[in-house]
Amino acid sequence: MNYDVIIVGAGPGGIFSAYELAQMDNRLKIAVFEAGVPLKDRHCPIDGKKVKSCIKCKTCAIMNGFGGAGAFSDGKYNITNDFGGTLYEYIGKEQALELMRYVDDINTSHGGEKTRMYSTAGTQFKKVCLQNKLKLLDASVRHLGTDINYVVLEQLYDELKDKVEFHFNTPVDSLERTEDGYRVHYNGQSADCKKCIVSVGRSGSKWMENICRELDIPTKSNRVDIGVRVELPAVIFSHLTDELYESKIVYRTEKFEDNVRTFCMNPYGIVVNENTNGIVTVNGHSYEDTEHQTENTNFALLVAKHFSEPFKDSNGYGESIARLSNMLGGGVMVQRFGDLIRGRRSTRQRISESYVTPTLAAIRRSGQGKAQYCRKDSGRISYPYPCRHARRLESGTSETDSGRYHGDDLRTG
Ligand SMILES: Cc1cc2nc3c(=O)[nH]c(=O)nc-3n(C[C@H](O)[C@H](O)[C@H](O)COP(=O)(O)OP(=O)(O)OC[C@H]3O[C@@H](n4cnc5c(N)ncnc54)[C@H](O)[C@@H]3O)c2cc1C
Repeated sequence: MNYDVIIVGAGPGGIFSAYELAQMDNRLKIAVFEAGVPLKDRHCPIDGKKVKSCIKCKTCAIMNGFGGAGAFSDGKYNITNDFGGTLYEYIGKEQALELMRYVDDINTSHGGEKTRMYSTAGTQFKKVCLQNKLKLLDASVRHLGTDINYVVLEQLYDELKDKVEFHFNTPVDSLERTEDGYRVHYNGQSADCKKCIVSVGRSGSKWMENICRELDIPTKSNRVDIGVRVELPAVIFSHLTDELYESKIVYRTEKFEDNVRTFCMNPYGIVVNENTNGIVTVNGHSYEDTEHQTENTNFALLVAKHFSEPFKDSNGYGESIARLSNMLGGGVMVQRFGDLIRGRRSTRQRISESYVTPTLAAIRRSGQGKAQYCRKDSGRISYPYPCRHARRLESGTSETDSGRYHGDDLRTG
């Protein structure tokens, strides 16, 4: 088979590449090869009842398939150069913002038109943060929510399916250069193209590393974010989330002068498992529809680490911490903040007596009122984290919203 363009990966990167190419020239022959399944077939088997923890499916319904890792995301679209990537380094800040607004227009014209755009412009929280040794980063954020995000993806697929050939359940094994383009190998077959876009996200990053090595494409070591997901009663953060939805707040630690920051805030949301090549970690999302909202807010608390010579494998570093955490906790670990600072584990008893009911389906037995901790007692989050990270996360937690944290608030990692 011959194509003008083959796109590997149907996450947001792949979908928007296909969308743009189809808009530019409707004569182009475009194919998308995706390891996972179509959007409508993506279902994570964890229901908190029959299936209580990650069963390591061949491709993870949360991470793979049409929509990529973004399909069941919270659908927060941040319009800013302050975080979330460094596109501006290549095209300049103004053009980067213009492109983000352009993507926002596509989302709003494909089902997201009734959703709200939040902004930090003119907020009183900037001053309050500075008075408390914190920095609130500037951003506008559109919250589609997991539900409307799904609608947008559905509409994009409907529009693209007649213009682009989608090949699902088709992981690409390898790529080779040919005289006038590339040959893509998959399931014992191959296809040729003039141009190839590889957009395989986090789940495909290891594969991508090998491809770059084989094709002699230079790579750069990126930073790795190490952290925990914090879950607390939504009312505690509602003054921030009602006005800003998501607030990226940075705290500089006293001892190491490292930055600890909040990330991916999900007001009234849920914590979910994600499986990246057999390693189970957590993420969060929330629904626009109030019927699906919970009483908790969750967000990530992260510290970034850059490595240079002699060690450059940031990905490997993050992965080994996650692997160790899975080994010690038999999956992800959940710990009350009070137990973390006392250096003790959160037993079933302590979690069930806590004021905060975990929303992670893998640890909650739903429909029984007070949370029941289904799995065996969880481990201690401080064990898999190197000392410097653990101390930064502890001090970041205490300072980020000083006085508001409670010993019952949960840390999942
Ligand atoms: C639960 C959750 C919530 C999130 N919330 C937000 C949010 O609110 N806002 C936000 O901006 N970001 C959010 N994110 C992050 C966001 O989803 C990612 O940044 C985004 O999906 C990256 O897009 P991508 O196209 O680069 O990669 P991905 O979305 O990872 O897509 C890559 C695709 O490539 C496929 N693939 C991998 N290897 C191969 C191969 N060899 N052959 C064929 N296909 C392959 C994968 O199956 C996958 O579908 C969230 C992520 C998760 C998991």
